[in-house]
Formats: sequence, C-alpha cells, structure tokens
Amino acid sequence: MTDRRTQLAGNLARVEERIASACSAAGRAREEVTLIVVTKTYPASDVRILSELGVRHVAENRDQDAAPKAAACEDLSLTWHFVGQLQTNKVRSVAGYADFVQSVDRVKLVTALSAAAVREGRELGCLVQVALDAESGERGVRGGVAPDGIEELATAVAAAPGLRLAGLMTVAPLAGPYAGRRRAAFDRLMEFSSRLRADHPAANMVSAGMSSDLEDAVAAGATHVRVGTAVLGVRPSLG
Ligand SMILES: *Cc1c(COP(=O)(O)O)cnc(C)c1O
Repeated sequence: MTDRRTQLAGNLARVEERIASACSAAGRAREEVTLIVVTKTYPASDVRILSELGVRHVAENRDQDAAPKAAACEDLSLTWHFVGQLQTNKVRSVAGYADFVQSVDRVKLVTALSAAAVREGRELGCLVQVALDAESGERGVRGGVAPDGIEELATAVAAAPGLRLAGLMTVAPLAGPYAGRRRAAFDRLMEFSSRLRADHPAANMVSAGMSSDLEDAVAAGATHVRVGTAVLGVRPSLG
C-alpha cells in the first residue's frame, strides 16, 4: 500500500470504529447510519483510494472543485452529495454529477435545481438545510433556512419535477442558543424531521454530524454523518 492509502485506511478504520461505538451506545444498528466522506480540497486520487477502501458516499462543497473531480471519478460507483452554499448559476453543473443536494435553502434554488435536473434527465435527491441559529425568514451564516421556513421549501421540492424530497441537513451552529450544545441541536433537527415525515414519509434522511460531533449526531438519530478531517486530515485552508 502507498503511504496515502495506508493513512486513509487507518483513518477510515478509526472513523468506522467511532460510528460503530456510537451506534451501539445508542442501541442502533450500524446499518442505520451512512458515512459520507467529505473530500473537499483533496484530490481525485484520494477519492479513488477511498472508493477502493469501500467508501460509497462522498461530498463536496464547491462546484469548481467538485465538477472536475466527479468527472475524473466517473468510472467509480459513488454517490455524490453537494453540501455547500449553492449559487443558481452553478446549478446546471451540479445537476450533472450530484445525486443529492443537501444544501437546499431557498425556493429560487429549488426552481433552478428542478429545471436543471429535468434538462439533464436526472433525479436529484434534495435535503432542506436547516439553520438552527437563523431568525424567522432569514438564512444562516453557513446557509440554511430558519426552522419556520422548512415546510414551504419541503412543499416546493416535493412538487418540483426532477427533484425528490429526501430529508433534512444541518451543521451544528457556532452562535445562538445552540452554540456548544450539539446534542440539543441535533435533537431539535430530529423533531423537525419527525414533523416533516408526517407529511412526507419518504423524506427520512437526517444528515448531521461531522468529524468532531458525529457521536452526538448518531445518538440523536442521524441517518447520515459527513466526515472530512477525521478521514482525510486537516484541510490546508478553510473549505
Ligand atoms: C466540510 C464539511 C463537513 C466535514 O467537516 P469535518 O469537520 O472536516 O469533518 C461536513 N459538512 C459540511 C457541510 C462541510 O462543509
């Protein structure tokens, strides 16, 4: 094995161990939680190694980086998640490779994603990104809709051709009432998810938890954790 492969295999094993322990502590089956490796800022060669090591889900947050990476990895059987703030002028590109867009946070984006998905002849799974620190009617610093905007967006996605409402996503807030209270933040997201599933039973994905807080997310009931640093290493710059 190359050095990088050895390193990634070791990191992946440690993350897998953390997820397995968190599942068992929460009385959940390991299969209930899907690992998404966030490969942003790392090269396509790393994505290829991860795929060989058994990773099936990867995530990116910038179209400029993601589009060429996805193209270079076209031969791999990977599910691509887009998790970054998304401008409508990037939507056509994203709809070409993404299987899921986890950062849906405004109706304008829903309209653009729908048109792009139809044009590409693809179905995009969409997660409404919830900003637990956003005030009513506003969006979060890192994107996301305020909790009272979930329903409107969910309805828009559910009615949009080419899109499938898949669930909810959040990033634990650094400010506001949930700052430093990750478990409480993820519990709150689960409440919103229960409410959403009452109207949209198939929208059962709950994407929460990153390298530093995946245990809290698994304990709360997350179905997907998004892990970057703990698998690939500390990113050279903010990404
Ligand atoms: C970068 C990123 C992650 C992964 O964060 P790590 O702390 O590196 O695990 C998860 N979710 C989103 C939305 C991200 O942008």
